[in-house]
Amino acid sequence: MPTKPSIYEPEHEDFRATARAFLDKEVAPHHEQWEKDGIVPREVWAKAGEAGLLCFDVPEEYGGPGIDDFRFNAVLTEEITRIGASGLGFSLHNDIVVPYLNTLGTDEQKRRWLPGCVSGETITAIAMTEPGAGSDLQGVRTTAVDKGDHYLLNGSKIFITNGINADLVVVVAKTDPEKGAHGISLLVVERGMEGFSRGRNLDKMGLKAQDTAELVFEDVVVPKENLLGELNGGFVHLMTELPRERVSVATIAVAAIERVLELCLDYAKTREAFGRPIGAFQNTRFVLAEMATEAHIARVFVNDCITKLNAGEVDTSLASMAKWWTTELQKKIVDAGVQIHGGYGYMNEYPIAKAYVDSRIQTIYGGTTEIQKEIIGRFLGV
Ligand SMILES: Cc1cc2nc3c(=O)[nH]c(=O)nc-3n(C[C@H](O)[C@H](O)[C@H](O)COP(=O)(O)OP(=O)(O)OC[C@H]3O[C@@H](n4cnc5c(N)ncnc54)[C@H](O)[C@@H]3O)c2cc1C
Repeated sequence: MPTKPSIYEPEHEDFRATARAFLDKEVAPHHEQWEKDGIVPREVWAKAGEAGLLCFDVPEEYGGPGIDDFRFNAVLTEEITRIGASGLGFSLHNDIVVPYLNTLGTDEQKRRWLPGCVSGETITAIAMTEPGAGSDLQGVRTTAVDKGDHYLLNGSKIFITNGINADLVVVVAKTDPEKGAHGISLLVVERGMEGFSRGRNLDKMGLKAQDTAELVFEDVVVPKENLLGELNGGFVHLMTELPRERVSVATIAVAAIERVLELCLDYAKTREAFGRPIGAFQNTRFVLAEMATEAHIARVFVNDCITKLNAGEVDTSLASMAKWWTTELQKKIVDAGVQIHGGYGYMNEYPIAKAYVDSRIQTIYGGTTEIQKEIIGRFLGV
């Protein structure tokens, strides 16, 4: 077999060992209970912060290690995926929301918010989607009306990851409804603000330990100091940051694909039918050969995206390609993996069953496959 293409250096492998030790001790033994609870306890975030697993790119002056290298994020994702800990919202926090604060925040905002994000005392979320607007972000109806020294925020959001645990929520709202995409801004809503409440922790088919919630804003007074980035510049900010989110989802996909391949190889070598291991049947071998080939292609592709992201060269269409292609591949491979496991693949006690339900959302959140293809199509000039 070809060796797995790697972009990691010794320091990334050292970090992997730290992450693995943490996850094996603090997460793996408890995840099943958290799935029943529908949420990961906040203390786990604080412990992860203490172990140095949160917000690597936050500069030292704001309490972080100041290492702007997405390979660390990818290693953490691989280790989380290795144990199937799909409830941890760390990648949303590390890869997506905190970079918004870090990139767009003023010095004062960063001083106020980032140290808690690094220590795990502050958990973050981003609230774009609404009951009436998901793919069509310009259709958001949440409004933030200028009242002099503050904005008055009204509206509701749905499907928000870390929605119950979140202390800071980056909310997409219309500040100038007449101006369409150019009238959208990002506001940071903080836990405890009057009029900010959480709806249901939603009952999902997978990602059972992740708190995905509805959020409600009723006349929330958001001080002007909590405007993130430019007034009416929210759409441009989202377009700038979304490629990173899409590479992050692709790193989850490739890690999940590699795990499914491993699970299936183990199973095919040990499960017997008709007096031989099922891996001895040509069909099983062919399926595994296809999985191994596609896993290799996906890894090369995602490694390239991570390298480009680090160099500031990842463009929107490349990130969209990585997002739709790796997540659709993940869905296909995990489905084939269940088939290899036969009836046991349908049993929740087998990790492949959980990998199957957890995979289904991957082609939907972070922009659906169809939306990614629309974006790529625009770049193709058609
Ligand atoms: C578990 C989970 C976690 C999530 N986390 C977050 C989060 O943290 N923050 C957040 O803001 N959102 C989050 N979401 C929301 C997610 O991003 C949206 O569900 C997603 O963007 C799709 O929006 P929608 O559900 O409104 O579907 P719709 O936009 O209604 O789409 C329905 C179908 O129509 C298709 N479609 C829509 N427009 C087009 C078009 N122009 N061309 C072709 N096809 C089209 C879509 O591809 C899809 O197949 C999460 C969702 C889930 C389930």
